Amino acid sequence: MSYLDELVEMLRNGNIEMPQFEARMIAAGVLGINVDTFLFSAPPATDAQIGRMKKMASERLQHRPLCKILGAKGFYKYDFVVNEHVLSPRPDTEVLVEAAIAEAEKSSARTILDLGTGSGCIILSIMGDVPALKGWAVDASSQAMEVARINAGRLGLDSRMTFVNASWFDENLPELLGTKFDIVVSNPPYIPSAEIAELEPEVKDYDPRSALDGGADGLEHYRRIAELCPKILNDGGLIFLEGGLHQENDIAAIFTAKGFKLAKIIPDLAGINRCIFLKK
Ligand code: GLN
Repeated sequence: MSYLDELVEMLRNGNIEMPQFEARMIAAGVLGINVDTFLFSAPPATDAQIGRMKKMASERLQHRPLCKILGAKGFYKYDFVVNEHVLSPRPDTEVLVEAAIAEAEKSSARTILDLGTGSGCIILSIMGDVPALKGWAVDASSQAMEVARINAGRLGLDSRMTFVNASWFDENLPELLGTKFDIVVSNPPYIPSAEIAELEPEVKDYDPRSALDGGADGLEHYRRIAELCPKILNDGGLIFLEGGLHQENDIAAIFTAKGFKLAKIIPDLAGINRCIFLKK
């Protein structure tokens, strides 16, 4: 049996949903080659490399997410470095990125702020496509911020980025930022606290709890961001928020109560109303 078949079998026996795909991703990661190479045949691997592949597959059987085993996740147009300190980038979030890029290109926006940047995948993807923007990224976790910095460097965006290690509950945040913004983006923690225990192990055991926990009703962080936005957003400024299942109307209501106008609610590929787009 080839090493690839062995990996597939290990993963399949462990009830991993896409054993072929994940086996190829693991093997490609260890060999440092593009996964597409495996469409034709499995290239030769040394015993040491096969040993590493099997170790990774056994970590996957413990439900460690593939991206955290490989240390990288493809999101929008780039590969982002990830580790245990950041939320794994999700394809659902790409609709927010696409919407923000489309609106930024239509506008004269020059500054963008990402609240809770994590790996930086949102703001860095947007800035990669919109050269006019300068970016500010806030995160309460210094370890997450380090990952975002690494990603900014890898994408050649570091000279356009300012990183601020602070919480949005910090009353001084507007002063720490020192400027106002044309665009605010955020994928805040939005899972109701009591529901975290029911999430799949890949999420509840490997995404930082601080990136998931949205308080009793899941909306605590939106209330705080809605308080902050009048102080940090320029007139005519745009807000793009990610939300969870069935949260879109509550999120919109929190912001319209502060005087913002709902511009659009945008579904993700699964049809979930994922992105709430508002204007000042
Ligand atoms: N989208 C994440 C999930 O899988 C939650 C991330 C968040 O709370 N912002 O549920």
